[in-house]
Amino acid sequence: MTQWENAIKSIITQQMEICARNEDVAVEQIIRSLKNGLAVIPANRLHTNLTLPSIIGKGFRVKVNANIGTSFGHADLKEELEKLKVAIETQADSVMDLSTWGDLREIRKEILKNSPIPVGSVPIYSASVKAFDSKKSVIDFTEEDFINMVLSHAEDGIDFMTIHAGITNRTLQRLRNGNRILKMVSRGGAIITGWMLKNGKENPFYEHFDEILDIAHDYDVTISLGDGMRPGSIIDATDPQQIEELLEMQELVERAWGKGVQVMIEGPGHVPLNEIEANVKLMKKIGKGAPIFLLGPLPTDRGVGYDHIVGAIGGALAGYFGCDFLCYVTPSEHVSLPDIEDVREGIVASRIAATVADVAKRSKKALELEKQMAVARVNFNWEKMFELAIDSRVALEKYSKRPYDDKGCSMCGPFCAIKVTEEFTLKGT
Ligand code: SF4
Repeated sequence: MTQWENAIKSIITQQMEICARNEDVAVEQIIRSLKNGLAVIPANRLHTNLTLPSIIGKGFRVKVNANIGTSFGHADLKEELEKLKVAIETQADSVMDLSTWGDLREIRKEILKNSPIPVGSVPIYSASVKAFDSKKSVIDFTEEDFINMVLSHAEDGIDFMTIHAGITNRTLQRLRNGNRILKMVSRGGAIITGWMLKNGKENPFYEHFDEILDIAHDYDVTISLGDGMRPGSIIDATDPQQIEELLEMQELVERAWGKGVQVMIEGPGHVPLNEIEANVKLMKKIGKGAPIFLLGPLPTDRGVGYDHIVGAIGGALAGYFGCDFLCYVTPSEHVSLPDIEDVREGIVASRIAATVADVAKRSKKALELEKQMAVARVNFNWEKMFELAIDSRVALEKYSKRPYDDKGCSMCGPFCAIKVTEEFTLKGT
């Protein structure tokens, strides 16, 4: 049974118990949210070392995903495992293996073997890479190849999969008639569109959605409906192509629920700050309240080299308005394959965004941590401050760079406002 089916029967699973503890909520709340499709717990029954599952959805902490994986000409399994280690240390809630180079199955299996957090994937990459490796075009695969890839990812223990089933012939018509500057920026979306145009057929993800759901059901893989039509620039944001795909997703969400499969919806991408609220609310409304997973979002396209900061600004607002799951963006976004340090910075930036959103939503747990930080600061309890810091390592490094041997730190030295207040101001009143 899937987590959803267990919830329907009011059976409490081990994953539900862990999530309830981590969220500091009653397990009944977890069950209620799963039952209504408002939350998901991605947990493939074969991912046996998944000791840190997460509940993603309304009423729970905003979660952060980190994309790792190889790319053209660069496949170093050790490096990918190091990225995974960094993701776990910096408390990402999940990782996605987006590898497109090297032995994809070996990389995927090793990541799963070493990951206590949920692992996601995009099976179409495997189908496409297989075609490329056989010296064919990246869109030269059959519908059967694709279904087989979905099955092999499920068998390996993948907890959630991006399936670009929302691009249909109707969506393509919109794309042809539209006036986007950047037609498509989703790799999966572009591959599937190329396949549809070359073969003159409907999207195989859409055509075979029931088969995909059957596989997802058997292994309890959460389906993440990929936004292949997401705009690639803020100028193109919230256009008819994006909305057309979103409308298709409504039916797909209902079909997933009909088969007892957990489902969430992916979204943009590049969204001006003033359109983030509308995007989140529209996705929630059309998606019938299913959890939503946004990439960034980036409210400007000009922060190249600092897109983790741009993504954190957009992510904080999106989280506040109801986005459940933020896909991190690294400083290398748009220009290079992220290295280990990029992964670390990207996760920290997204975790800051998620924390800002949780605090603004008055999350009991988030506010308690903020209170503990305030108390640690007034007491000059540096150890506790570093423990509570989102990035303890960097906080400690900065502190240690210029040691200061009295109360306070080297920023204000003897003029430390907290110390002066403690020693003179309050004593004098
Ligand atoms: S020295 Fe300044 S920055 Fe440092 S703890 Fe005191 S008030 Fe804060």
